[in-house]
Amino acid sequence: MTSKIQALDNKHHIHPFSDSKELHEINPREITHAEGVYIYDDKGNKLLDAMAGLWCVNIGYGRQELVDVATKQMSALPYYNLFFKTTHAPAAKLAAKIASLAPSHMNKVFFTGSGSEANDTVFRMVRRYWDLKDKPTKKQFISRENAYHGSTVVGASLGGMGYMHEQGDLPIAGISHVEQPYFFKDGGDLTQEAFGIKAAQSLEAKILELGEDNVAAFIAEPFQGAGGVIIPPTSYWPEIKRILAKYDILLVVDEVISGFGRTGEWFASQYYDLEPDLMPIAKGLSSGYLPIGGVIVGDKVAETLIDKGGDFNHGFTYSGHPVAAAVALKNIELLESEGIVERVKNETAPYLQKRWKELAAHPIVGETRGLGMVAGLELVRDKDTHERIAPNSKAGGICRDFSMANGLIMRPCGDTMIISPPLVITKAEVDELMEKALKALDETAKHYN
Ligand code: PLP
Repeated sequence: MTSKIQALDNKHHIHPFSDSKELHEINPREITHAEGVYIYDDKGNKLLDAMAGLWCVNIGYGRQELVDVATKQMSALPYYNLFFKTTHAPAAKLAAKIASLAPSHMNKVFFTGSGSEANDTVFRMVRRYWDLKDKPTKKQFISRENAYHGSTVVGASLGGMGYMHEQGDLPIAGISHVEQPYFFKDGGDLTQEAFGIKAAQSLEAKILELGEDNVAAFIAEPFQGAGGVIIPPTSYWPEIKRILAKYDILLVVDEVISGFGRTGEWFASQYYDLEPDLMPIAKGLSSGYLPIGGVIVGDKVAETLIDKGGDFNHGFTYSGHPVAAAVALKNIELLESEGIVERVKNETAPYLQKRWKELAAHPIVGETRGLGMVAGLELVRDKDTHERIAPNSKAGGICRDFSMANGLIMRPCGDTMIISPPLVITKAEVDELMEKALKALDETAKHYN
């Protein structure tokens, strides 16, 4: 039966990334509260949230310390902007804390309200940088097919999702896309190593096509998240680094998902030994308790922007919002003081990855993969040929529905099932996740038999 909330929602609310007409027919599930790694709905169902919301609730749900810090900050200073030659303690302290955790050559932060706004900021900052370097032709961005960089016009254009480009005449001019390092899909007869080099070299080919004097930056997620937890072969990033250095092109590492402990390091750039010029961040920064994002800026770009740039004509009403910044700072302090990132690295992530690998033996699983606290698996009918179970990538949605019915949130990306649980997940909760994931796979297999 449709509840009062569902009726209001159906009448007045347009949902993000949803077919609202279809949603109104099935009624959206009403989530009422959450604790630890679990969310609860109004019918009393308890679900293990193996996606940490949208890859963001790193610290888990229900942390009173974050509520308390928000309440205190709201009483003292609920809002003030940072445009008018003013600052406040939450923004300044948060910027310093982020700089202390980032790679050592990155010491400045520009705040935004989201990951998409962070990538819009990157776009303007990079172009400004090259203008100030007297290289005004360096304007083009190179990204990758199936990348996700947000949903604003620039974010969706930098992203490589065809279904997003179809709506709104995207991408905008000045953005090209090259191969993604998706071995399971595109590897063919190559070894992982050889495929990683080949995928990276599609960047070099694009630079030569556009002309190195026209290329400003390459943007990439360290591992692709929304595209299906695509982990690049080990040969990929070193080859990308070689190419970017050769042609004097900036590296933007989009750490919106991978930042704040998800790989077992504070940033995936440390995991992969990357030296980004710019790093967009969001999500785990506040564990999703309040909206906040930003761009961590490397010294090279920061010095030019600041020493030569004068006014940077860019910013948001909520850049460095004091309540969001205070919550983010407390969130990072808790991740640090409770040793959560270290525990991910040394204990819980190795355990999750070991258990996740067991699913590779399942008859409809063509591959499992993962690192840190993210993992994915490919649903197939034939393990050798990688033939999919059903046309039109429908099996993922079916598997997701079985999983939800069993009390586990996994996300489908076409025929890939992905997870990204809160970093506080325990080994016992990993066992529960595995049991439920296995049951969802069994039921999916049965459904297609
Ligand atoms: N960049 C990456 C890698 C993301 O995964 C996302 C969101 O999932 C974004 C940017 C956009 O962030 P937001 O949804 O906060 O705008």
